[in-house]
Amino acid sequence: MLPQNPEDFTMGASRLILPQRGHIPCTRHHAIDVDADLLRDTVKVAIVGAGIAGSYLGCILEEGGIIPDVYEQGPHDTTCGFRSCGWGAPSAIGAHLAYAGLDLDDYYLEPMKSMEFDGLIARTPLCTLDKPALIRDLRARLKIIPHQLTDRESDVYDVVVDATGISRTILPPCTSDLTLPTLQHRVAIEPVAGRAPGPGVYGSQVPGLGYIWIFPLGKSQYHIGAGGLLCDNYAGILNRFLSDLSRGCSITHQCTCPGEIRVASPFFSQPLVAKRRRESGELQRIIGVGESIGTVSPFTGEGILHSMESARILADSWLDEDRYVSRILSRFSWMKKERETLDYLLSDSRDSAPRIRDRWRFYRNARRSGVKLPLQEAFRRMGSLTRWIEG
Ligand SMILES: Cc1cc2nc3c(=O)[nH]c(=O)nc-3n(C[C@H](O)[C@H](O)[C@H](O)COP(=O)(O)OP(=O)(O)OC[C@H]3O[C@@H](n4cnc5c(N)ncnc54)[C@H](O)[C@@H]3O)c2cc1C
Repeated sequence: MLPQNPEDFTMGASRLILPQRGHIPCTRHHAIDVDADLLRDTVKVAIVGAGIAGSYLGCILEEGGIIPDVYEQGPHDTTCGFRSCGWGAPSAIGAHLAYAGLDLDDYYLEPMKSMEFDGLIARTPLCTLDKPALIRDLRARLKIIPHQLTDRESDVYDVVVDATGISRTILPPCTSDLTLPTLQHRVAIEPVAGRAPGPGVYGSQVPGLGYIWIFPLGKSQYHIGAGGLLCDNYAGILNRFLSDLSRGCSITHQCTCPGEIRVASPFFSQPLVAKRRRESGELQRIIGVGESIGTVSPFTGEGILHSMESARILADSWLDEDRYVSRILSRFSWMKKERETLDYLLSDSRDSAPRIRDRWRFYRNARRSGVKLPLQEAFRRMGSLTRWIEG
């Protein structure tokens, strides 16, 4: 089991500390637990995908002396040029940023200390952060190759890291994938008769398993999105929600992006690693990280922090795939349980209500994220389970 505090990650005995690269000042050097012979030019590493997982991994590998080639197919067909995301994260992400020499304050947009959960106000440690700026800064320290990895290029690498997120381009398909569609608007909101909305999550607005979120981005900007399983009309649901909201505010639409989140959990996203024989006959190691291997909370779709955690675990167990897989499955075993609840609720044979264990998992999810929902309330109002509890 990994320690909760990212600063507590252990580094192994054979420490290799090399000078940092790039223009972003780093507060510390890192040591990666790996035989020094496996480093530098002896092992050629490609990271495919420079989202949060791939770019963060690239930076911490570089600090350990491993210089990967990073392939990124972007920019995405979105206004910000990045993959659709709400940019909400617990402030504990600051420790992961500090590990790469970055300061959360440079990306911090808005606190979400007090958040509405279907009418209930709870304290949270959440905030929004400027994820595009963060990824840009991480990428600036890396050698980015701006296209997809071709088969010919792939052959020269001893290790290929699949950090391609939802597309999971390099690894074989998940044993049991589960993805949920999303739709998100970015809007500017100015209060007219009422107050500007605060952060909130509304499960009761989406039929089945899903919710609407309002995440403030500062300067009157908001991400308002909807996602979930069993619903195919997010546009209609969001329009209704925005129309209700507009009674007390003036809302100006900025942009819209559809998306998809892998909520399969790492356990059901296996294999997390694979091997491929190259033309030379040598084996190539393929290792997944981030959302490509399902490091996303199946209940909430929260994946930024967990993708960074998975990158830390990969760097910390570099080239020991058995250790990596077992640490990922252990660290994110709670995601397997959440996924099992989703499967149960989606199955035809389910009873009409969630079981005690499903309610408990929701409560645990909130506590894990630092959301202070009282037990009784969490059991009664479990956001996206509303239909089963109250309907
Ligand atoms: C609408 C929406 C809202 C969300 N809101 C939140 C939130 O508020 N908080 C939170 O924690 N999580 C949220 N998530 C989830 C979170 O965005 C992801 O879990 C997280 O970004 C995963 O990071 P990643 O680096 O693993 O994958 P990605 O961010 O998907 O990055 C993968 C990268 O790989 C690149 N790529 C893909 N295929 C190839 C290829 N073949 N060659 C080269 N490059 C390739 C892509 O261009 C991309 O840059 C949200 C997701 C969605 C869809």
